[in-house]
Amino acid sequence: MTIKFADVRKKVIEAGLKMFQSHLVVGTWGNISSRVPGEKYMAITPSGVDYEVIKPEDIVIMDMEGNIVDGDKKPSIEYPLHLAVYNDRSDVNAVIHTHSTYCTAMAMARKPIPAAAEDLVQIVGGDVRVSEYCLPGSQELGAAVVKAMAGRNAVLLANHGALGAGKDLKETLKIVSVVEKTAQATIFAQVLGGVVELTQEDIDFMRDFYLHKYGQR
Ligand code: 13P
Ligand code: ZN
Repeated sequence: MTIKFADVRKKVIEAGLKMFQSHLVVGTWGNISSRVPGEKYMAITPSGVDYEVIKPEDIVIMDMEGNIVDGDKKPSIEYPLHLAVYNDRSDVNAVIHTHSTYCTAMAMARKPIPAAAEDLVQIVGGDVRVSEYCLPGSQELGAAVVKAMAGRNAVLLANHGALGAGKDLKETLKIVSVVEKTAQATIFAQVLGGVVELTQEDIDFMRDFYLHKYGQR
């Protein structure tokens, strides 16, 4: 039997494995989704299944109201959070929620990651704010995250972890990796006496450079 939406399901599994192997999550925490090309659906990881054993049929296909379109598994408890991001941001095609160590430290202290590293401001668009505390899996968490992520591609979830949103899974993995690295560097910089933030003018220049000039074109 051929499986529906096989390509996007495979890509979500591959991104999950990379996230797990990069230590951005431990155990079954965190979750990943992608829009399904050509459909008003998202493909999301199942709840509480080890990343190393997720099979294509375990990835749950949902519509943008949260109804299951295909798949027998329970979707991630954070499906309302992923839907809230897609429904707010037409530029976003992939969402990755991590529990990475240094982001969790910043989120526990409820301290934003300042706009003080060049790769961070290029890929995220500025500092990474902390959303208001809400319980995992709640509708309120989605609304709080969307509010705190305005104008950015990443956010910290108070006492919980981080979330990145990007144009595809590859870019979004890069976002959550750069955010984790910058959270770590921020904590190191605090030991050295604190960070020096970039100016808004320099942030705007670097974001524009990243979007329109950086890399091979
Ligand atoms: P799921 O396993 O249901 O995706 O939940 C993990 C998590 O990170 C909740 O915030
Ligand atoms: Zn979580």
